[in-house]
Amino acid sequence: MENPIHTQHQRRGAIHADGRREKVRVADVHGRFTTWRRRAFVLLILVYAIAPMLKVGGKPLIFLDITQRRFFLVGQTFNAQDAYLLFFLLAGGILAIFLVTSLLGRLWCGWACPQTVFLEGIFRPIERFLEGSKQEQLRLSRQPLMGRKLRILIVKHGLYLLSALLVSHIFISYFVSLDQLRHWVFEAPREHWSAFLWMGAITGGLYFNFAWFREQTCVILCPYGRLQSVLTDDDTVVIGYDAVRGEPRGSLGTSGAGDCVDCLRCVEVCPTAIDIREGLQLECIGCANCIDACDDIMTRLDRPIGLIRYDSLSGLAGRRKRWARPRVYLYLVILALLAGTGAVFASRRRPFEATLIRQTSAPYVVEQEGGIAVIRNQYLVHVVNKTPQMSSFEIRATVPEGATALLPIPVVALESLSDQRLPLVISMPQARYQDEGTFDIVVQTRDQTTGLTVTSQLRFLGP
Ligand code: SF4
Ligand code: SF4
Repeated sequence: MENPIHTQHQRRGAIHADGRREKVRVADVHGRFTTWRRRAFVLLILVYAIAPMLKVGGKPLIFLDITQRRFFLVGQTFNAQDAYLLFFLLAGGILAIFLVTSLLGRLWCGWACPQTVFLEGIFRPIERFLEGSKQEQLRLSRQPLMGRKLRILIVKHGLYLLSALLVSHIFISYFVSLDQLRHWVFEAPREHWSAFLWMGAITGGLYFNFAWFREQTCVILCPYGRLQSVLTDDDTVVIGYDAVRGEPRGSLGTSGAGDCVDCLRCVEVCPTAIDIREGLQLECIGCANCIDACDDIMTRLDRPIGLIRYDSLSGLAGRRKRWARPRVYLYLVILALLAGTGAVFASRRRPFEATLIRQTSAPYVVEQEGGIAVIRNQYLVHVVNKTPQMSSFEIRATVPEGATALLPIPVVALESLSDQRLPLVISMPQARYQDEGTFDIVVQTRDQTTGLTVTSQLRFLGP
């Protein structure tokens, strides 16, 4: 089999000119960034796994209950009526990513994206543990599928499947309650077929992604990766090769050669199989493996480290680096506007909703009562408790003189994020209505715990 390193120039990353994909086998690398990334991966895997279990004020730290259309975020509860706040959250998040990307390039991809964290923190280490170094993996791949190789592959894919199953449970725990998830885990699949199939599909997708698809997710599928060329500029800090210092490259002892000894270590350790010396490429996920690999070579050769380093394209070309530039100001201004507007809307958000709505049948009826014609309007008071705890709400209707209000349930206790529609009937003698003219029914709903009152009103209708 051809050596992928020596065919680099016929390939674009892991893809050959004829479209074939070369499995990327990453050589071992050690160094300061590798050490810090491993620590970050352990921490982030713990954070991803533990976050759905944490509570703030008795409510989940994060729980997106899509089926019930309710969301818990840092102890706050939101329902579908608060969906507009999501706009500020999502738009702010996207802007923040734009800002960080324009300053620091693909820091997210290399250090914190779940794709990188789980691939480099779980799946690749399993492969390294069972199949050995890059050279050992290549030797194993050339052996027939029997004996030791077969055993290794069975164990490896078994562990991959188990890991994919665990990751899928972590993922699902952001969308279903932990109690529900526990039931699903311990009950027979026939008790919850659809959940079982969902879990199977997600596990299958994760297994496919982490066992085979790998870097193609970043290179082909990820929209954030595809946007890099518009989000970065010459002043963005990226991982780059100092061509001024490194070129012309040449093996050790070559007269007139720069500092790059063309050892190809930076290519061997690259998880997307690119050569950083060819310049900034969309396939570079900013993992910093090539920095550690090249620093190691430079140290051994007693040359200064940093031939490959975090720097802007301007910095690598020997020009002055600028942090502050128009796009950074623009992102900051839009971010500040979004944050300010979002904060105003969030501060106006009421902890409960009380809306007066008309019954869907006839807008009014006229009935005879003791020989007098009486107009009746039927309403519903829709109360939604958006607080994180159970609350009782007291409802009072204010009507003009001569009218009567019938409110069969004047006080209602509601669980967090639950709602109830309470009937309200307003009656008024027709003769009085004609004297009074048009008027509104005013309903006040008071949270008995906080004393907060919400007023809603609706027109009384008659012939
Ligand atoms: S690791 Fe450094 S010295 Fe070796 S090829 Fe890459 S840039 Fe050149
Ligand atoms: S070029 Fe360097 S930083 Fe970019 S993906 Fe490859 S090894 Fe990682």
